[in-house]
Formats: sequence, C-alpha cells, structure tokens
Amino acid sequence: MPKPRHPQTVAASNGIAADPTFGAVVPPIYLTSTFAFSGFERPGSYEYTRTANPGRDVLADTLAKLEGGAGAVVTTSGMAAIDLVLSQLGRDDLIIAPHDCYGGTYRLLAARRDRRQFDVAYVDQGDDVALSKALTRSPSLILIETPSNPLIRVVDVRAIAAQAKSVGARVVVDNTFLSPALQRPIALGADFVIHSTTKYLNGHSDVVGGVVIAADKADAEALADWANLTGVTGSPFDAYLTLRGLRTLFPRIDHQQKNAAAVAAFLDQHPLVRVVHYPGLASHPGHALAKKQQAGFGAMLSFELVGGVEHVRRFVEAVEVFTLAESLGGVESLVAHPATMTHSGMGEEARRAAGINDSLLRLSIGLEAEADLIADLDRSLLAVGRRAERPERFID
Ligand SMILES: *Cc1c(COP(=O)(O)O)cnc(C)c1O
Repeated sequence: MPKPRHPQTVAASNGIAADPTFGAVVPPIYLTSTFAFSGFERPGSYEYTRTANPGRDVLADTLAKLEGGAGAVVTTSGMAAIDLVLSQLGRDDLIIAPHDCYGGTYRLLAARRDRRQFDVAYVDQGDDVALSKALTRSPSLILIETPSNPLIRVVDVRAIAAQAKSVGARVVVDNTFLSPALQRPIALGADFVIHSTTKYLNGHSDVVGGVVIAADKADAEALADWANLTGVTGSPFDAYLTLRGLRTLFPRIDHQQKNAAAVAAFLDQHPLVRVVHYPGLASHPGHALAKKQQAGFGAMLSFELVGGVEHVRRFVEAVEVFTLAESLGGVESLVAHPATMTHSGMGEEARRAAGINDSLLRLSIGLEAEADLIADLDRSLLAVGRRAERPERFID
C-alpha cells in the first residue's frame, strides 16, 4: 500500500481497516482495563490500559505523524499534557513562559513554582530584548504559545527555537490554537508540541483531553514512562471520540477560518469595536509572520468593545448564535470574556501587563453559516449601541 503523504490523508485514514480480527474499517475501541496473558510469564502485546491501550495508541500514532514527531503520549487533559512536560524538570531548572499564556498554564506554572519544583520567568516573547535577557539566565525550557490566548499575538517559533538551542534550552510549543493542519512546530525547531485535544483536534466539545508529541524517540519514551507512573494517560473512550473528531480536522478548520476571516472583517469596520485581534487582518502586527509561519490564520479572534464592562454585559446577553462559554475549537461558535472567565485566575495586575483589558471579548468561530454569525454580531452590537451613551465614533 502506498504511504499517505498529505497530513490531511493521515488525519482521515491512519489506522483505517487495520483490524486483524474482523477487518473493521474503524479501529475498534477496547474498553478494558486489563489484557489476558497467554500463559505463565507470557504477556500479550498489551497488559494494562494505564500503560497502553490499542485505540489510544492509534490516536497517539496519528497525532505524532500529523506533527512530524517520533512519538506521542495521549493524556487526560491539555493541562496534564503540559504538566507531563514540566515533570521532566527539577528544582534548579528555569522555564521561560509567555507573559500572556493560557490562564490554566499560568496557574499551573505559578503553583509548581510556589512549591519550589522549578522557577518561572514570564517574558513577552515578541520583545527581542526581553527575550535575549531572559535567555542569559540559562533556562532549561522555553514554552511558546502562538498565536497566544486571548490576544492572538504571533511569535517566531523558528527564531526563538534557534536562540533556545544556542543556550541549551528545550522548546515546547502549545499548538492548540492552530492544530497541525495550520502549524507544525517540530519542523520549525521545537522539541515538544502539546495540545489540548479538547479543542480543534477533537473539535466537537464532547471530550477533555491532551497530547504531548516529542520530536525525539527517547523523549517520547521517557514521557510515556512518566505518564504511566503518574497515571495521566487518557481513557480509551475519549481516545475513540478524539480520533473520530480528528478525521475531519482539515475540512473543519478550513471552513472555520473562512468564517473567522469574514467575522474579523465585519468587526474591523464596526464603530462600536475599538480593535480586532486577528492575524488575517493586514493591520495585525503579526500578519506577515503568520503568513510565513502558518498555513492559515485560524479561527480564533478577539476584539475590544468601545465602552466598559456594561457594554460587554449587554453584548453577551444579546448574542443568540454565539454561546457564552469557555473553551474553543468546536463546531459551534463561542464567545468568552477573558477578564472574568478564562483569565480571571491570573490576577488584575498580570492581566493588565499582558494587555488583557475588561472590554476584550474572545470568539471561537464554528461551522455555522457565515451570514448567521455576522447577523448575530450585528444585532448584538446594535443592542449595545442603542443603549450606550452614544460614543462619538458611533454617531458619524
Ligand atoms: C484549553 C487549553 C489548554 C488546557 O487544556 P485542557 O484540555 O482544558 O486541560 C492549554 N492550552 C491552551 C492554549 C488551551 O486553549
């Protein structure tokens, strides 16, 4: 059989029709905690599901291939995937993390630092001077998130990875916001890629899961050993659903980013919108870099409303097609208010330093008809404007 070449083919067909027992086209789900030995001192290829499970292995293999890695460990959540990478560090290690990283990652890093399990420096990785200065502190690991959450900032993975290598640091990229359909960090020099598979990879908002993909085989094995030790490997049923969702990753994200581009263009010209953060807009500071580094601009964007929290409240109470909820990457469009939802645990000072103000709203664009999404936003902004104290920009 010729080897599938395009990642889209891998997503749709890896592990298909490989069932040795009955020739099932879909890889079977093995809902079992344990596997029978064929005799005394004769284990089969599987022993216990915490260690390995056939369906979970198909998912891991598919994700490793999509990211161009040597191996992958499927975990119970995205946070467990990040923590699995962190577990490889010790007391003397320093991590450089983005100053505007995912709220949960920020909390995890801070909690482990407080227990003196390693040290953390939060750095604006788009600021070359700040990054170079941090690199003189001999970090062990650089965590990159691009595009970042929720401001959709883009940083240069290839350049940061090269700088990290020069000081002996490993590089881990959280690729949750784009998925391997749009960005492949290992090809840009990363040692590890992590995902919250909860988001685009599963894509249907019905599973919480994660994965770490390692560029190097020995790293992948070390992570698998540690995941077995601590028991953070994902359940067979979650792996089954995630692989099922992954089959349609490419067409989903393709359509979602088309919708996102239309939504961004609509918001960008609206008088009640101060600024739109979407790398597909030529005005976005990361536009050129995103064009070079990514295979598309993605389907996440954020924007600032004119006016304060009261306008935010009116807006989120008016939306009907969009749902007010955390998370992202599903087939349905969601709106979130980072300051009171995803990033509330960060503290006001850190939020302000990261540029996340109280008027910022984040959108995850789904698979609904473009016209319905825009009509919903248009009507909701009108509801804000009608009761607003008529800001100057709104009058003209
Ligand atoms: C959701 C998310 C995580 C955490 O993943 P969970 O599956 O919720 O544990 C980490 N990073 C990013 C960028 C995310 O969006």
